[in-house]
Amino acid sequence: MTNLSEHYNNKDFACLCPECRGEYKVHLGLVGALEQIGTHFRKRAQILSAYWCDAYYEKLKKTSKRSFHTRGKAAHIAVDGVSIQELFKYAETVPELRGIGLYPKENFIHVDTRPGDPVRFVKEGNDYYPLTADKKTKYGL
Ligand SMILES: [Zn+2]
Ligand SMILES: [Zn+2]
Repeated sequence: MTNLSEHYNNKDFACLCPECRGEYKVHLGLVGALEQIGTHFRKRAQILSAYWCDAYYEKLKKTSKRSFHTRGKAAHIAVDGVSIQELFKYAETVPELRGIGLYPKENFIHVDTRPGDPVRFVKEGNDYYPLTADKKTKYGL
């Protein structure tokens, strides 16, 4: 186990598939962003899924076009007692988090530290849509 920060170690970011036995890759900017979220809500942000190894990504590909997970730059997170809307809105204020996605059905958000322009999306069914003004209203953002 390797500590990456005050509240996280490498296992928190490791791939969850049974094949690679906890392979991991993590961008330290992502760890810092999660610490910032935890500080804000005074509760550690739970990581539901972060790094995906190539084999796991192949398996998930049918439902996901996002690949920042395979680069250690993305995580699915939730904070106990905090709505995903509240979490989403706060994530938008964290500069490292360029990509943010709302998963209303799964009840978590995706955050990533991709380079370039910010991206906001929402998952509906098995598809991802840009978070337009209409969708923002629909999901209470
Ligand atoms: Zn794996
Ligand atoms: Zn994701």
